[in-house]
Amino acid sequence: MSQTISVRCKLIVPQEMRAEIDRTLQGFADACNQILDTAKREKCWNTTKLHHLVYKTVRAATGLKANHVCQAIRRVIGNAKAVKQVHKFRPTSLSLDVRTFRYRESDQTVGVTLMCGRVQFKLKIGGYQIALLRGQKPTSATLLKTRQGDYYINIAVDIDTPPTGKTPKVIGVDLGRRDIATASNGRSWSGKPIQSVRDRYSRVRAKVQSKRTRSSRRLLRRLAGRERRYQVWLNHNISKTLVSDAKAIGAALALEDLTGIRESLNHKPRTKAERRRTNSWAFYQLRAFITYKAAIAGVPVVFVPPAYTSQTCHRCLHSHPEQGKSYRNGKLFKCGHCGWEGDADHNASVVISLLGATVNTPEIPKLSCPLAARDLDKAHALAKLSVG
Ligand SMILES: [Zn+2]
Repeated sequence: MSQTISVRCKLIVPQEMRAEIDRTLQGFADACNQILDTAKREKCWNTTKLHHLVYKTVRAATGLKANHVCQAIRRVIGNAKAVKQVHKFRPTSLSLDVRTFRYRESDQTVGVTLMCGRVQFKLKIGGYQIALLRGQKPTSATLLKTRQGDYYINIAVDIDTPPTGKTPKVIGVDLGRRDIATASNGRSWSGKPIQSVRDRYSRVRAKVQSKRTRSSRRLLRRLAGRERRYQVWLNHNISKTLVSDAKAIGAALALEDLTGIRESLNHKPRTKAERRRTNSWAFYQLRAFITYKAAIAGVPVVFVPPAYTSQTCHRCLHSHPEQGKSYRNGKLFKCGHCGWEGDADHNASVVISLLGATVNTPEIPKLSCPLAARDLDKAHALAKLSVG
C-alpha cells in the first residue's frame, strides 16, 4: 500500500530571483485565464482537445515553457472538475512536473524551471520533511507564493505504508465534541484554549465588521492567521501523540466514521458553537493528520459507525431505553443501568475502541465498518460485538 502526501517546504529565494519567480507565476496565471476563456467559449473540457485549441497561442502570448503550458491546461481542467464555479486564476501558484522540477536530496535543493530557465533553490526544511523526502524521486510539485511574500514548494511523494499486522488492541478516539480529542487511553485535549482564541476573533470580527477600514481588516487577518497557525500546530501535536501512543503498544486507532455526520440522527441538536466546531476545517484536518501519520507509522486506523457511541455506556453497553432520552448530560455520563458515572467524552472514546476492536481488519486501511448499526437493535448489537 502507498499513500500520496504533499510535503510543504519553504524555499530560500535570493532577492534577485523573486522577480523571476513572480514573472513566471504571472505568466502561468495569464495562461490559465486564457485557457479558461477558450474552454468556456468552446465548451471544451477535454485535456487533449483543449491542448490543440490553445497550446500555440498561449505559448506565444505568455512566453512560458512548453511544460508550463501543459500544466496550465491540466490546472484549468482539474480546477473546473473540482469546483463548479471557476474563478479567475491569480499569480500565486505554479504546477510543476517531472520536466520542470527536480528534488535533489544530496544538498536539499530543488531545481525549478522558470521562464528564464532552470534555477536551483535551497530548501529550508526540518527533520520531518527530510524524513518524508528520503530516497524519493518526486515527479510533481506546486510552487506557491504566500500573502506575506514567502515562497513554498509542495512536493508530492508516495509513502509506502508498512503492512500492518492484525492487532487486538485499539485506542478509541472521540473527536470534536466538548473537547478537541479524547482517547480511551486517558489522553485528552481540552477545547478551551483554542475556543478562547476563536471567541476573541469572533468578538473582534463582530465589532469591526461594520467599519471596513484598512486597519480593521488588517487586525482581522492577523487574528485569523494566529488562530489558524495555533490550530494547525495543535492538530499536528495531537495526531503525533495519538499515533505514537498506538505504535508504542502495537495498537490500532479507532475513529468515528463521520461521512454524513451533519445529517446524523443520533446527535441531539447542537449549540451554534458546537456546530461551528464540527463543520470547521480544523476538525477535518485533525482527522486527516491522524490518518496520514498513522499510515506512515504503520498504525492501522479503523472507522466505526458513529451511531450511539456517545449514548452507550461503555461498561454495560446499555443506552437509555426511552427514545430521545440519554444518559449523557453535557460533560457528564450517568448510566441508569449499571450506575457508572464519569466523563462523557471518555465514555464515548471507550465505546469507540470496543467497536473498533470488533471491526479491526487492518489489512485494508480506511475500511468502514459494514455494520450499519443504526437500524440494528443497538444495545443488543453492541453487547454481541463486545463478546465476540
Ligand atoms: Zn452502564
